[in-house]
Amino acid sequence: MIVMKFGGTSVQDAEAIARAAGIVKARLAQQPVVVVSALAKVTDQLLTMARAAGAGDRNTALALSRALRERHYNTAGELLGTGIFTQFHSELEDDFEALDELLRGIAAVGELTPRTTDYVAAFGEILSSKIVTAALSSHGVNVMLVDSRQCMVTDATHTRAVPAMEETQARLRAQVQPLVEAGQVVVMGGFVGATKAGVTTTIGRGGSDFSAAIVGAGLGAERIEIWSDVDGMMTTDPNLCPEARRIKVISFDEAAELAYFGAKVLHPATVLPAVQKNIPVYILNSRNPDCQGTRIAARAPHCRNVFKAIAAKKRITIIDVAAPRMLLAHGFLRAIFEAFDRHRVPVDVVSTSEVSVSLTVDSNESIPALAADLAKLADVKYEGRKAIVCLVGENLRETPGIAARVFGELSDVRIRMISQGASEINLTFVIEEDEVPQVIRRLHKVFFADLDPEVFA
Ligand code: ASP
Ligand code: MG
Repeated sequence: MIVMKFGGTSVQDAEAIARAAGIVKARLAQQPVVVVSALAKVTDQLLTMARAAGAGDRNTALALSRALRERHYNTAGELLGTGIFTQFHSELEDDFEALDELLRGIAAVGELTPRTTDYVAAFGEILSSKIVTAALSSHGVNVMLVDSRQCMVTDATHTRAVPAMEETQARLRAQVQPLVEAGQVVVMGGFVGATKAGVTTTIGRGGSDFSAAIVGAGLGAERIEIWSDVDGMMTTDPNLCPEARRIKVISFDEAAELAYFGAKVLHPATVLPAVQKNIPVYILNSRNPDCQGTRIAARAPHCRNVFKAIAAKKRITIIDVAAPRMLLAHGFLRAIFEAFDRHRVPVDVVSTSEVSVSLTVDSNESIPALAADLAKLADVKYEGRKAIVCLVGENLRETPGIAARVFGELSDVRIRMISQGASEINLTFVIEEDEVPQVIRRLHKVFFADLDPEVFA
């Protein structure tokens, strides 16, 4: 069997859902279990109405809920035609009545807890999974909806609940496997789970990928397909460099390095349960289903090229902390990182010398206050409009002389920081933001000229 996960944009309206149903139908022989996200933007809208209700603004919350109801009715109506929709309508109606009752309750109390937040947020996937099931059924598919709250067992850390893997996998085997074996296509909502006591939970934003990986790992899937609206991972941003090519296969570790830059596709950490079991994960495009996408594998096959991709991240600030007085003082780095922690500013790249530390952070408004705090420890300077450039590839580990080639190529570019990560599969450096396009194009020309056809499209 296989797991097919459809993200929000792949089920955003009737047209998208019909397309997704067609894709599932084309794979019936492979016994798909379908995991769906909420319709695009719905989770955000549910959270907005929950917050409005929590602030006591009942009317706004209910107005938003009405708009959501309209959208789902219209989508279902368009997909199913009036005959089938009339039956199905009352089922959706029950859910929307329950949602409104919940919102009224939250507004009456004027308090939104993480637990009630989860009850509201879960409606997105509850509704989308029902609509997708009805759509598949109307396409003549032998389909069965399984409520994720029956299978996905989590702890009670509401809004980012942690799945209990063994219990969940046991339930998947008991409840889903027999249906698959009986030839039914199972549909489940992603993102949503429940505690052992049956209280609704959610497993964190973007959690449907994680749900898909857990389902795939639990059922021993042949592969997991993550359907979104891009052709897969690229050697670099095609907007910056028209020569960018699709990566056909990438290792989990390489994908994890790149996630930080191109997280739009998927965060590989969410598919770890599948990768650990050696189940390949494919990123595929529901608008271009014939494209082979990108396969994420536990280990990448041999590749002629050193690098798989170059990524850049703009809007970076460098913070330089220099402390001649503190020469060799222990506890200095700790004091610096504690300041970052107090201001809740995450650090990306770090390079240190005996007397100074340079760190990069995303440019944001908390930097001046952070710098003022750091100035109590040492001399501090910060400068924005920088960019991180990151070259990623497993072969970096074994190939000598690569840094010389990279920086030799960029001998006229001012490099502000250099870091070769502990993973040894990325070479990262910091430059002026406005140099990004030419730096990417030059490096792409050198390192992606003669591409290994096994690895790149
Ligand atoms: N609908 C949820 C979200 O928007 C989960 C997902 O789509 O993966 O975060
Ligand atoms: Mg997503």
